[in-house]
Amino acid sequence: MLCQKLYPEGKPKALTFSYDDGVIQDVRLSELFNRYGVKATFNLNSGLDSGSWWEREGAKIRRLSLEEMRPVYAGHEIAVHSSTHPHLEELDERRLYAELYDDRKTLAARFGCAVEGMALPFGSWNEAVRSAIEKLGFRYCRTTVSHHSFALPEDLLTWGATCHHKDPLLPALAGQFRETEQELALFYVWGHSFEFDMQQNWQVMEDFLQKTAGCSDTWYATNGEVAAYLTAIRRLIVGEDFFINPTGTDLWVRVSGETLRIPAGAWVSCGA
Ligand SMILES: [Zn+2]
Repeated sequence: MLCQKLYPEGKPKALTFSYDDGVIQDVRLSELFNRYGVKATFNLNSGLDSGSWWEREGAKIRRLSLEEMRPVYAGHEIAVHSSTHPHLEELDERRLYAELYDDRKTLAARFGCAVEGMALPFGSWNEAVRSAIEKLGFRYCRTTVSHHSFALPEDLLTWGATCHHKDPLLPALAGQFRETEQELALFYVWGHSFEFDMQQNWQVMEDFLQKTAGCSDTWYATNGEVAAYLTAIRRLIVGEDFFINPTGTDLWVRVSGETLRIPAGAWVSCGA
């Protein structure tokens, strides 16, 4: 049967953000996200000290302490960025696993929640890194590759973004996103919040949110929520005149102009 897959509540599009390193500028960024009602994933290094400042291109940067992090990241997703931000592909196996496992364990204990995703430090990886991420059971892992499209990842463990926030194509892509009819269109933006101070371009994000937030056809979700939903909807069984949802997640489709919710575990007929 011909059907269009949809996001939760029957929304055809999704927007998600991913920001790295857990720095002081995340305070302003999360306030901005909260004001516009969008959701983000923040990728944190739990093994690095929050006490010391450094300067980069005029931006004063330090990592947030645990006490500072809790309110800043409330309502968003916390994900792994390795304990100490090394080039993972240069590590021996023992240290590689420790960098990922320890960060995940520490973040889960600190925030009292499951930590299921990650973003690669420096965006660099090799097969040994991907294999470690898979064996440790991560649901998804973000690279730093921009594909300038609204396409979904074939491999959630090497998940590229639509673009970085400083990409000159960002405004044009935001316009295309409003118009697109692509199935399960996903706009995925990544970056570091300290770059807004470095380039003094907070307005770029404000402009982007003005164009993309508050739309009734868009699901505003964390990376983890998007990954979980994609994993589920890829398992939907589409028959001649029925659906079977073998997952624990309610799924949504559009058939003959009607939006249909297929409850978790349900068989749903849509015959005449
Ligand atoms: Zn980083």
